[in-house]
Amino acid sequence: MAHQWTRVVLKGKAQVIPPICPICLGEADQKIRYGYKGLEGWLTRTTYYQTFTYCQACRPQVISATRLRRWGYFGAVVGGIALIPLLLALSSLLKDPATGKASDTAVNVGMAAAGLLSLGVAVLVYWVARTLKRRRHPLRPGQVVWGPGAFYTGSARMGLSSGTSVYKAVRPEWAAALLKANPEQADAATYQALPGAARPTASPDSRPFGPA
Ligand SMILES: [Zn+2]
Repeated sequence: MAHQWTRVVLKGKAQVIPPICPICLGEADQKIRYGYKGLEGWLTRTTYYQTFTYCQACRPQVISATRLRRWGYFGAVVGGIALIPLLLALSSLLKDPATGKASDTAVNVGMAAAGLLSLGVAVLVYWVARTLKRRRHPLRPGQVVWGPGAFYTGSARMGLSSGTSVYKAVRPEWAAALLKANPEQADAATYQALPGAARPTASPDSRPFGPA
């Protein structure tokens, strides 16, 4: 599933979210709030939340997908609990039957193996949850990805841009709609990068005052 996600930087802290479904581009009226935690977020312990609008048909799948993270945590907890019996089982396996002791090497190997198995348990729990969720809400025609198709990913990096907001969208059409909904927050370069999103220029007849 290698999708090219479109990144949009907007100059502002609050945005109008277009009423278009981010995964199927259908007419949308179902508000779903969810977070984004990128690689950076795991370090800074930050999750960026935003409310997006999805269509009725895509809603159950997106809600199901946003709950997948919980299963990841649950898997990590189960894996952590499994670590102790795994260590005990391995240590009895690795003991020298004659002396009743394990060598340092055997202890290290045993710890590493227990750690790997524990991680395996966590991954398995997550994978089973993901598979069941995908089976329950299969990808429908028109849906580009399984799960959310747009994220708010915080401010652009490098301090200077703390007043900006960055979005990630799987459909460039949705990114273009976001720009169109917030024209005053986008620069010309961003507009040009997206097909069909030419920046609206103030046409003379839209001026409230002055000669025509
Ligand atoms: Zn949809």
